[in-house]
This record gives sequence, structure tokens and C-alpha cells, in this order.
Amino acid sequence: MTKTAIIIGAGPAGLTAAYELITKTDIKIIVIEQTNDIGGISKTVVHNGNRMDIGGHRFFSKSDTVMKWWQEILPIQGSESKDDILKDIYYQKKRTQVKLSPDGPDPEKTDRVMLIRNRLSRIFFLRKFFDYPITLNGRTLSNLGIVRIIKIGWTYFWIQIFPVKNITSLEDFFISRFGKELYKTFFKDYTEKVWGVPCTEIAADWGAQRIKELSVSRALLHAMKSILKKEKSIEQKNTDTSLIEQFMYPKLGPGQMWETVARIVEEKGGVIIKNSEVVALNISENQVNELSYFNHTDQKKSIIKGDYFFSTMPVKDLITALGNKVPSKVKVVSDGLQYRDFITVGLLLNKLKIKNETKMQTLHELIPDSWIYIQEPNVKVGRLQIFNNWSPYMVADIEKVWIGLEYFCNEGDELWQKKDSEFIQFAIDELDSIDIIDKNEVLDSTIIRMPKTYPAYFGTYSDFNIIRDFTDKFMNLFLIGRNGMHKYNNQDHSMLTAITAVNNIINGEKSKNNIWNINTEIEYHEEK
Ligand SMILES: Cc1cc2nc3c(=O)[nH]c(=O)nc-3n(C[C@H](O)[C@H](O)[C@H](O)COP(=O)(O)OP(=O)(O)OC[C@H]3O[C@@H](n4cnc5c(N)ncnc54)[C@H](O)[C@@H]3O)c2cc1C
Repeated sequence: MTKTAIIIGAGPAGLTAAYELITKTDIKIIVIEQTNDIGGISKTVVHNGNRMDIGGHRFFSKSDTVMKWWQEILPIQGSESKDDILKDIYYQKKRTQVKLSPDGPDPEKTDRVMLIRNRLSRIFFLRKFFDYPITLNGRTLSNLGIVRIIKIGWTYFWIQIFPVKNITSLEDFFISRFGKELYKTFFKDYTEKVWGVPCTEIAADWGAQRIKELSVSRALLHAMKSILKKEKSIEQKNTDTSLIEQFMYPKLGPGQMWETVARIVEEKGGVIIKNSEVVALNISENQVNELSYFNHTDQKKSIIKGDYFFSTMPVKDLITALGNKVPSKVKVVSDGLQYRDFITVGLLLNKLKIKNETKMQTLHELIPDSWIYIQEPNVKVGRLQIFNNWSPYMVADIEKVWIGLEYFCNEGDELWQKKDSEFIQFAIDELDSIDIIDKNEVLDSTIIRMPKTYPAYFGTYSDFNIIRDFTDKFMNLFLIGRNGMHKYNNQDHSMLTAITAVNNIINGEKSKNNIWNINTEIEYHEEK
């Protein structure tokens, strides 16, 4: 008899599981998604013809499997994209140097195409731009001033001679890597903006997982190598992931990838039920039997039976949905799991106030960055996305500038509760106050609130194994993805957890260790 897999969530992990199952097995697929959207945190929102990400989403992986998988769905561009063509028309200047795929599609003629983008993401601090990663050049020296530079050098060498003995907090980790002054200048404020708690309260694990390979010596080595040799292939095998210089990006944003995958799954017979929230899973000793979901459209509750269950819903919600059979010690850890939430404001402008002062050719003097880390201490905005530079096709009118201001917050806090119009005005005022925009140039705006974007490595996270031991007992339940595993997984890791879980079913592998091990050895870096 044909078996059925029920997949909770139509984000990258859920849809990868669906795609893998439907292309490699005869298992029936049902995906249940609580929202009306496809793509989870990796969706693309369209506002009056302008497209925006929930944070910019680079498509890059050290895993060949994932790189190939993406390119099978959306092949790499074979001809130049609109911005490069226009640069040539306007300025007859050299176009962006990217390696085009000889037989790839033309982004001017088709949508099903992946663009190759050059990465520039600088740090905005003291009203000036700093290179990312910080390089020891004339501009950095003059931006920072000689006194700060001496302090950075001195505290860095000090920590090399007298290393931190017990590295328990993230602060210890940063200081032991970079020295006190470099930590205070470039890591402390930004990290605390992202997480909303002091670096002394965040486990050192976070640093070890997120930036384990990044160090002053590696950054210097990378800078030297980049001068000598530009790595042109998209694989960038010899480059630390946090330092990659090119990435892939779907013509119409990350959501396009997942909408395409969802369409393929449906064409192959899979069922995707939207606007339906999984509220309960019925369990017996070591297996899940059925689940119930509540459809927000018809306000009805339904129950479906399945043979395999893949969960990408937040672990905390899953444990609640497992009901009163959950042991109290598991519930205590689950209740204590914490998250960081996210608000992004989209602004359409005639132009930015800040101008391109780099040597890179851009349209209408637009700064060339895909995103900028806002390090200024007096504003709450954490990052700024310039969507024109992710893909010129994200903007309805390429003569305008379409940006996203990112705020890290906690669901229910002061920022989260602000009225939409009040928040948008606050965001505009902030960018105006640091001279990035002139508020009179704003033409249109929108706001998106996204809960649980960052599973936190504090709260009860250090006892997470108690949850894992409990959920691993259910032979037909697979926790995959980012919030699904409470792990700082990017799209590639989220996909690899899904691919591994499906392979385990195919190969009769009972242990789930290989799923949990993903992203412990393959490192990635999503933000500074
Ligand atoms: C600001 C930011 C920037 C990022 N940048 C990058 C990047 O540059 N590159 C990269 O590769 N990754 C990036 N990521 C990470 C990427 O967004 C995630 O790894 C990816 O979306 C995780 O996929 P997922 O399927 O595990 O989870 P999600 O994307 O969270 O999808 C889970 C889905 O499950 C649904 N769901 C939840 N609960 C229920 C329920 N009870 N019932 C039914 N459905 C439910 C949700 O609605 C959602 O659609 C970034 C993330 C953030 C926050």
C-alpha cells in the first residue's frame, strides 16, 4: 500500500522534503502550511510591483548537492541582466564581471533564471563606510583615527600573549579572537542589536558555530589572496563562506525558488494545503499516528493519518502540539526556548542621499552594496537591503530605489507593537537622521512582521538534548529545517536536513544523528 508523508510547513526544508520524496519514492505527499504564502522565511513579498525578502537571501552553499539542486530548478543566467545592459547604454563602461553560463537562459526574456551577483556588503559606522571584512587600508585608518587603530592593534596582540582562559560567553569568544577594542568597535553593539541581550549572556557556541573559521589572520590572508587572484567560479571552494564574493540569486527573489518547487511538487501529484495550522499530533509510544490542523479559511479542524511526519514548525510549538504525553522535563526546556523576531520596512525612493564613492560602476550613482550593516549606535535599524542590487527585476521601475530596513525585536515588545504607520515613520526618520536618505524622497512604503526568525542560543538552549532525545524516539517523526530543529540553519542546511531525512527513509537508516550533524561541520555565515 502506498505510504503517506505529511510535511508541516512549506518553507525550504518542507518543500525540499516534498520534492525529494516525490522524485525519489512513491510516497504520497501532503504539505500543510499555516500561512497563505510559500517559502517561509525565504519567501518574497510583492508590494505594488516591488519585491522584497525577509532579509536578503544569498543562494550559496559549500555543498555541491545543494548548488546543483538549486540550478536544476533555476538555471544560471546565460546573458546579461538589465542593470548591466543599462550601464553599458548609459555610460559605455565595463559591465559587472560575472561568469555567465554558456547555454543559460536570458533574464531579459525568461523568469526561470538564477542571477550571479557580486557581493558588496559594507559596514556603516561613524557616518562612514567600512569594508567588510575590515581591511587595513588607508580608508579604514582615516575612518577610525589613529588612536582607535593603536588600541585595536594593542588589544589584539595583548590577547594573543594572554589568551582568555575560560571561553564561556560570546563576549569571551569575540575578545579571544579579535581583542577587546576590535570587539567593542565592530561586534558588540551590532550583536546586541541582533539578539537584544548582552554578549555576556549569549553562549560561546554561537560564535563557534557561526564564525568558527573567521579570524584576523584568515581575513588578512583572504585580503592578500584576493589581490593576487580573483576566484571567478561560483563554487568559491577556496573561500571562507563568510567572505564569498559572488552568490546566486533568483531573478524574482528567493520566494521564486520555493514557488517553483511547490509548483513542481503539485504537478507531480503532491498536495499543498495552505492557510492551515497544525495544532496537534497524536502519538503512541514511539510513533506519530495522525495530526490535526485548523484551516483559517473555512474555520474547520481536520485530522489526517500518515506514515511519516516531517516537522519544520518551531520546536516549541511542536512540543505543545504533542499534548499532555510530553514528560514535564521536556516541556520545561521547550517552554524556555527563545527566539528573536524581525520587522522589515520597505521604502521606495526617488534616490538615496548617500552616493556611490567606490570605483564600482552603478546606475545613477546608487551605492553598490547588496546590504549594509548599520553600526551607528543611535539608531535601532540593524541592516539595510538595497533590493535593486540583489536583482534589478525586484524593482518595478529601475529608475527608483527600493530598500529594506531591518529591525530585530521580540514579539510583543515596544517595536513589535507600534502601529504600522507609526513604525514606518520611525524607520524613515532613523535613516534620514544618519543621512542615508532624505525623507522627502520617499514615494511608497510597506512593513512586514516575521515572528521567530532567529532561534536563540540562550534561554534553555543548553538543555536542548532533552528535547532531542524525546523527539528522536518517534521513529516516523523527522525534525528538519531551522526552527524545526532550533538550529541556526540557512537554506542550504535546512535543505540538507530534509534530503538526509528522506535518504534515511529510503535506506532504512533508523538513527537521526546524521540529520542533527548537519551544519555542525559545514559552516555558513548569514550576517556579520
Ligand atoms: C534575516 C534573515 C536572512 C537570511 N539570509 C539567508 C541567506 O542569505 N541565505 C540563506 O541560505 N538563508 C538565509 N536565511 C535563513 C533562511 O531564511 C532559513 O534557513 C530558511 O527559510 C529555513 O527554512 P525552513 O523551511 O526550515 O523554515 P521556515 O522558512 O521558517 O519555514 C517554515 C514554514 O513552516 C510554517 N509553519 C510554522 N508553524 C506551522 C504550523 N503549526 N502549521 C503549519 N505550518 C507551520 C511557516 O509558516 C513556514 O512557512 C536568512 C534568515 C533570516 C531571518
